Formats: sequence, structure tokens, C-alpha cells
Amino acid sequence: MRQVAFYGKGGIGKSTTQQNTAAALASMGNKIMVVGCDPKADCTRLLLRGVRQPSVLDTLRDVGPEHVPLDQVVVKGYGDIKCVESGGPEPGVGCGGRGVITAIQTLETLGAYQENLDYVFYDVLGDVVCGGFAMPIREGYAEEIYIVCSGEYMALFAANNISKGIKKFAERGYARLGGLICNSRLVENERALVEAFAERLNTKMIHFVPRSKDVQRAEINKKTVIDYDEALPQADEYRTLASKINQNDEFTIPTPITQDDLEQLMRDYGIVD
Ligand code: ADP
Ligand code: MG
Repeated sequence: MRQVAFYGKGGIGKSTTQQNTAAALASMGNKIMVVGCDPKADCTRLLLRGVRQPSVLDTLRDVGPEHVPLDQVVVKGYGDIKCVESGGPEPGVGCGGRGVITAIQTLETLGAYQENLDYVFYDVLGDVVCGGFAMPIREGYAEEIYIVCSGEYMALFAANNISKGIKKFAERGYARLGGLICNSRLVENERALVEAFAERLNTKMIHFVPRSKDVQRAEINKKTVIDYDEALPQADEYRTLASKINQNDEFTIPTPITQDDLEQLMRDYGIVD
């Protein structure tokens, strides 16, 4: 069982990319569970075609730890993918990261991990202002990490911060960086910039996902692109990304760079004139 986490700044496309990748892997015959670790609880919406299952933390609060019905918090979606939302604390109260770990531990206790799973995916909000979101790394759940970014400064800034988090826990944990996924925002020189940034971080850009209106078309139909129309070119992009993840065997401890170096990199690639 490979435990894979997608990190990245809010709004960058983690949930979209992860659900499409999971759908592609499922269509190749893999058994998958997706655990959404975002208090927004919107990480499995496309796999479930808009059906909302109760989150683990909400259910825990309602019925207590011994009585969480596994079949209500783990719901099968596209390609028999098991879909879970950890949920979050009430806004303004408690730590979201701690809540995620409570939710994962509850799933473990209830036996959600016991089946013959090939992949467990975690979809983690990563604006590492709050150390809580490093919890899945620190607690050893996120073993293989992909950072979703674009060529925009704030996306790279967040990716660099997430790399600092991975590095911090890499020595005493299992967490390794599997690569950057560039989810294009049509930034000038984006591919070259993200490739260069990846090299500086001691990793690689594993795939460049083009920006496509078909992603949004599928989304308003509450589906992944693969579920919406598997013949679309964008569906091929996600299948390619899925294959690259499936075959990936290069996992590294990242080497985050300074803010000055990041700003210089942006200038070198002609983004800021
Ligand atoms: P996150 O989970 O990182 O907060 P989402 O996956 O919810 O981000 O994506 C934010 C928005 O960006 C969504 O409305 C989604 O449709 C759009 N989006 C993501 N990836 C692409 C893409 N490759 N092309 C076009 N739109 C995209
Ligand atoms: Mg999301």
C-alpha cells in the first residue's frame, strides 16, 4: 500500500488533480482510498458525483468514537474508490491538523485500511502557516508527497515552505518528496521555471498538467474529466500523470531555497519585468 499525499497552496488544483489521478489509477485496476484532509470537505466531490458523505470529525462529534459507522463515512465513488472526508474543527476552534490525525486514527481503528488497498491518497491543504497541516507528514501517514504548484510566485512560495516541512521531518520519518506537479496557470515560461525550481529543490517536475476548460466543464457536471469524457485530451494528461506516479521510484529529501533565491529564479525566467 502506497500512502501518497498531495500538498499545495489553496486553490491551486490539489483536489481536482488528485481526484482525476485517482480515477485514472482506478481505471488501470488499482484499489484506492482518497482521504480529504481539508476542513472544506470538498476533496471527493467529483468522485462521488456531488453526493456528500458525513465527515469523520462531524460524525465523531455526533456519536462518539466507538459508534462511527464506517459505511457512512467511507463511501464508494467512481471506479470503486473509497472516499472519506476528515472534516475539520468548528471554525475558530481547535487545530485542523490535529483533527485530520484524529480522523485518520479513527479510520485505522475502524479497519478502513485493512483491505487490499494499492493506494491511499491524502489531499492536504498546505499553506503551511499552521504547522498542523504538517501532521500527516510528522505522524508518518504521508510517505510519498507530491506538491501541486504553478509558475506563480505564491504557489512556488508555498511549495518551498512545504518542502521545508518535509525536510524537517524526513530525518526521523518516512516522508519523501516524489515531485512537483505543475498545474498550469498559463504563466510565461512556466514549464522551464517549474523544472528549474524542481531541480533546485532536489526533485523533478513529474508532470505538466495543461490548463483546460474541460476541467471546469467536468466540474460543473460534478465529475472528474475521466468520468465526464475519457476521450478528451485532458483525460490523457491525467492518465499520463497517474502512470508516472505509478512508476516513480525517485523519492528525495528536498533542499528548500531562500526567498531571495526564489525571487531571483522568477527574474531569471523573465516572469517579472
Ligand atoms: P485546491 O484543492 O488546491 O484548493 P481545486 O482542485 O479545488 O483546488 O481547484 C480550484 C479550481 O481550479 C477548480 O474550480 C478547478 O476546476 C480549477 N482547476 C484545477 N485544475 C485545473 C486545470 N488544469 N485547468 C482548468 N481549471 C483547473
Ligand atoms: Mg481542495
